[in-house]
Amino acid sequence: MAVIIDGKAVSKKILEQVKKETEGFGKKPCLAVIIVGGDPASKIYVNNKRKTALELGFESIVKELPENISESGLIEEIEKLNNDGKVNAILVQLPLPKHINSEKIIETIKPGKDVDCFHPSNVGKIAVNSEVFVYPCTPKGILSLLEEYGISVEGKNAVVIGRSNIVGRPLSMMLVNKNATVTLCHSKTQNLKEITKSADILISAVGKPKFIKREMVKDGAVVIDVGITRDEQGKLSGDVDFESVKDTVSFITPVPGGVGPMTICSLMQNTLELFKQQNQRFWKK
Ligand code: NAD
Repeated sequence: MAVIIDGKAVSKKILEQVKKETEGFGKKPCLAVIIVGGDPASKIYVNNKRKTALELGFESIVKELPENISESGLIEEIEKLNNDGKVNAILVQLPLPKHINSEKIIETIKPGKDVDCFHPSNVGKIAVNSEVFVYPCTPKGILSLLEEYGISVEGKNAVVIGRSNIVGRPLSMMLVNKNATVTLCHSKTQNLKEITKSADILISAVGKPKFIKREMVKDGAVVIDVGITRDEQGKLSGDVDFESVKDTVSFITPVPGGVGPMTICSLMQNTLELFKQQNQRFWKK
């Protein structure tokens, strides 16, 4: 029986540290979130971010913009936040309405305030393994979980499934930077089972329930399930067939309660980190 990785507990512990550190500053880290339109799921995510930020003693700005805002109107709003000395971290909630070019919007965010690490210049820094402002939230959360459970990635075969810009792609680069041997799989990968079977660390970010079955996983592997799919009753499922896989692996994340809580936790760590970078003279006494 595997060790069940407890993302809720790890996230709680990290957030307590963030809160304690924040109390020592006498000045509040400020996270600004822009949401365009009224997508209910996006609203829930943004509210959760705001609630957590406030609990930690951060300042939280939420800019709710109308669905029909023009691309140039949105760019203007981001520029205001870029130039506002009080704002340390900027996040634009995705997805954006179809008439807005997301890439252009992401490129408008000042790289030093890009709390999600989506700006191409920040992603490029990960690619060449140079110093970044902050790492992208979900991949960072996954590496925090591995670290917390004493799982070293160095020299290991790490297989990542899913090549999105928010999870698989940056995560695979971050694992390479930590000296793992990485295979990045996607929808066009052939013989997926053969590849996943070779993984010491298997990370799935696909979004298909029970996609990873027992016969695809090596005995003793570490299994990280990033997938979140909500069924009609609102029940969450991961990518991994948890019940059949858990008996043969060494570590496994559940859904919910595994990677999920780590994403928001990393976001808060990143906000504090950007605050510190921008106030170095202030806090490095
Ligand atoms: P995505 O939804 O943009 O893309 C899915 C990826 O899966 C693609 O790269 C695709 O190539 C790959 N894929 C699809 N079918 C495949 C197949 N048969 N074989 C191999 N690969 C296949 O990716 P995303 O935005 O990273 O989201 C993936 C999942 O992770 C979703 O369920 C999402 O909800 C979840 N997610 C969770 C968190 C979290 O905090 N836990 C954060 C981000 C995303």
